Amino acid sequence: MSARLDAVVHAIEASGAKVLGADPLTQDDSVLQIMADLAAAEVLRGVIDRHLAPTDLLMTDHLPQVPGVFVSDMDSTMIGQECIDELADFGGLKDQIAAITERAMQGELDFAEALSERVRLLGGLSEDAIQQCLDERIRDMPGAATLVATLREHGCETVLVTGGFHQFADPVAERLGFQRVVGNRLATAHGKLTGGLVGDIVDSAVKERVLRECVAAADGAHSLATGDGANDIPMLVAAHYGVAYHAKPKARAASNGAIDRGDLTSVLRLLGIPEGEWTT
Ligand SMILES: [Mg+2]
Repeated sequence: MSARLDAVVHAIEASGAKVLGADPLTQDDSVLQIMADLAAAEVLRGVIDRHLAPTDLLMTDHLPQVPGVFVSDMDSTMIGQECIDELADFGGLKDQIAAITERAMQGELDFAEALSERVRLLGGLSEDAIQQCLDERIRDMPGAATLVATLREHGCETVLVTGGFHQFADPVAERLGFQRVVGNRLATAHGKLTGGLVGDIVDSAVKERVLRECVAAADGAHSLATGDGANDIPMLVAAHYGVAYHAKPKARAASNGAIDRGDLTSVLRLLGIPEGEWTT
């Protein structure tokens, strides 16, 4: 056992939890598997955070298996940006709108109210700014395409569910290989944003509902969710594997998985899919 793993095991045992097994899964010790009494999950998590942070972790009561359903957030999870903040820059409103986005993602504001307020501020912006924003600003998160392609190759259904907008999510989903998109849609008229949305708002409750419906349709298949913000929490909690990706503290604390170090391919490692089986 490596000194690093040894220290973690000792710390877990010192806290009163029983360690049933501990193995490095890679030669360089970058992936560790620790089997312990899950009744002490909070203790375990605290020890891992103290000894191994920043790290990528998944805590389960079984050996992880490849999920049949994958539902993911888009902004700051599958892409590196918040689309609404970048779009706002084309109207000279980035600072004002990004401040509201940050508070909403931290869970300090009601998501739907915060979204409506920001969309209202964008009213009058040229529709052409969307394509320009996509071309110039929006970039895939490292590992995103490999994660989606590999899960699909293993028979998993993939859904991008976003509090952002179809105008961004549709091309992102197509590029990354998601099979379906659930999101909001910016209303437009005469080549400009109206400041409103088309239809009902996709909020945290809708994200959770989409996950549950997919699981039910797949006969209770194991599910994976990834997200970073407060509006992802119900979806992350409802999934068998809820992985908070470089996430806001509230989302991270609510999830049984977290990526704090690696890119999105770390999700595949946590699920036990070795690099030789990845689809790139
Ligand atoms: Mg997000």
